[in-house]
Parts: sequence; structure tokens; C-alpha cells
Amino acid sequence: MKIGETLAARSDPFFSFELTPPERGMSISDVTEIVDQLIPYHPLFIDVTNHAADSWFEELNNESYTRHITRKRPGTLGLCAALKYRYDVETVPHLLCHGFTQEETEDALIELSFLDIHNVLAVRGDTTDWKEIRRGARNKYAIDIVRQVVDMNHGRYLHKLTDAQHSDFCIGVAGYPEKHFEAPSLGYDIKHLKEKVDAGADYVITQMFFRNEPYFEFVERCRAEGITVPIIPGLKVVGRKSLLKNIPRNFYVDLPEDLVGAITEADGADEIGAIGLEHTLAQARELLDGGAPGLHFFVYNDATLTAEVLKRLDF
Ligand code: FAD
Repeated sequence: MKIGETLAARSDPFFSFELTPPERGMSISDVTEIVDQLIPYHPLFIDVTNHAADSWFEELNNESYTRHITRKRPGTLGLCAALKYRYDVETVPHLLCHGFTQEETEDALIELSFLDIHNVLAVRGDTTDWKEIRRGARNKYAIDIVRQVVDMNHGRYLHKLTDAQHSDFCIGVAGYPEKHFEAPSLGYDIKHLKEKVDAGADYVITQMFFRNEPYFEFVERCRAEGITVPIIPGLKVVGRKSLLKNIPRNFYVDLPEDLVGAITEADGADEIGAIGLEHTLAQARELLDGGAPGLHFFVYNDATLTAEVLKRLDF
């Protein structure tokens, strides 16, 4: 199933969700426990994030440290295959510019084709340490990955090959209702989003947001600029106080004052969870009523509140 084609053919709302691979050395059961909670609600697809290398310091003795650069969360492709065949659900590995050479991306695409996985999400990535451990030509922007995948779909590999197989990938890309943090303006960012779509992206998944107005305005502006592909809103349930700091810091998005105020004053995990849940429920209902094609949940490592949202939405 290619997600772009499925979205074009269906009119009823769907949900999808996004996971991270377990940390190096951890078990796949960390992830399957999460999937087990959400699979009864019939996700259309599951995204698995990808990760460039991070640096970390190992203490050698009290005075000296050695610096290592490794991928903290390897295993995106294997996890996608494991989930696809264990749960009979479409999985979408993320492909990154950062941390991967073009040749490694080509190798990944070949592996995915062999695994019968034909959906990918092309994103740039944010980290910089990867530069120190990867040599070879690299993709700079997400559009470069889109072009590389489209080339393979036409049988064009990095090196000229005779009688090369055409791959058959559907490509998703990221969009930012509140503007990507590096873009000087929303218009500039949308212009580059349009380029990704014109290059061959089949749909857009947005960065998480917590007020719907920017999403609806973003969709309107995208449509006015000629972007016609589905724009799937990204949602996250704020179920812990620590997220009030982590979300703006990691994702460069704003949290609404009333949500911040209520969670700040809340007492205990249950009360915080209930506030986050009601907020996401209200957002989800308004988005679906307002014509969003579906909902994409950034679940990562805790599915309890997302499962409750899906139950209440009757998925
Ligand atoms: P791009 O589309 O390359 O854009 C990056 C910036 O450059 C933007 O400001 C854009 O306006 C500008 N730009 C784009 N093209 C050009 C050009 N040709 N010339 C000049 N400027 C240009 N990160 C991870 O590390 N792993 C993941 O798995 C991951 N998954 C994600 C999933 C979703 C749904 C989203 C929304 C984000 C995800 N991210 C992930 C985060 C993402 O990598 C960052 O937000 C990153 O900073 C931008 O990625 P992008 O693909 O939007 O970049």
C-alpha cells in the first residue's frame, strides 16, 4: 500500500503514529508494548524516526573523558520491517540528510525495496556531530532526498547501471504550520515546501502544533501556492510537566497559555494527563471537522494517553 494513493482514494479520517527506535542495546519489546496499545484502533501507517549520530563522553578517570560519536537509536529499517510483518501494518521509515551519505541512503532504499516497504518520509535532520564520522557525498536539504528517491523510481542510481530496477516509493515530507525555525518567513518556508512537492513528494506531515489556527492558515496558504497534496496534522498529547520545556526547546513550537497555565498548576500525573488529553481531544475534533484528512500522533515512547484519545474519538 502506498500512502499517497491510499489517501487520494479514501475520504474517511484515519490516524497514524510515530515511534522512535529503542536506544542502542535496548529491546524491541520497548516498542511493541507501545504498538500493542494502539494497533486495536487500526492505524493507517506507523512512522519510525531516524537518528544521526550524537556525541557522548565516557569518563576514563576523575580527570579525563573520551568523546564518542555514535547513533544512539539505530535500527529504523529493521524495526519498520519487524512491525510491518508482525502487525500487518504499513510502516514508514524516515530517511535523513544528516548522518547519512547519499550512498548509504541508496543502500537503505535497496534494502527497503527488498523488504517490500515502499513508503518513506524524507527529512533533513538537525544534529551536526554526524559530519565527523561520515565521508562521501551527502544530501543537504530534504528535497535532495526526494530527488534521489524519485531518481531511483526512474531506475537512476548514483552510478550509472544498465538494466537497473525501478524502485516504487511513495514519499512524505515535513511541513511547519508555525514556520521552520531557520526559515526567515512562513512564505519562504512554504516556497521550499512547494519545491519538495513539485520534486515528487506525495503528502506532507506537519510538525506538532497545539493551536489549530496556524494549521488551518498554513493549509490555506499552501493551497494558494499550488500545493495540492494531503497535509496531515501532527499532534502530541502533553502528559507530563517536563514537556512544557522540552517541546518548545526540541521542536521550536509554541504552547498555548491556557494549556501551560493549567498544567503548571496541576497536581500529580493523573491531573496533568487529563488536561493534556482534553486539549488534544478538542484539537483533534476541530481538525477533523475542519477537513483535516487524518491525524498523525507523535507518540514516541508513551502511548497511554494517545490510546485514550483514539478511544474517545471512536477510531
Ligand atoms: P528541509 O525541507 O530541508 O528544510 C530545512 C530548512 O531549510 C527550512 O527552513 C527550509 O525553509 C529551508 N530550505 C529548504 N530547502 C531549501 C533550499 N533548497 N535552499 C535554502 N533553504 C532551504 N528529525 C530527525 O532527526 N529524525 C526524524 O526522524 C525526524 N522526523 C520528523 C518527522 C516530522 C513529521 C517532522 C515535522 C520533523 C521531523 N524531524 C526529524 C525534524 C526535522 O529533521 C527538522 O525539523 C529539520 O530541521 C528540518 O527538516 P526538513 O525535512 O523540514 O528540512
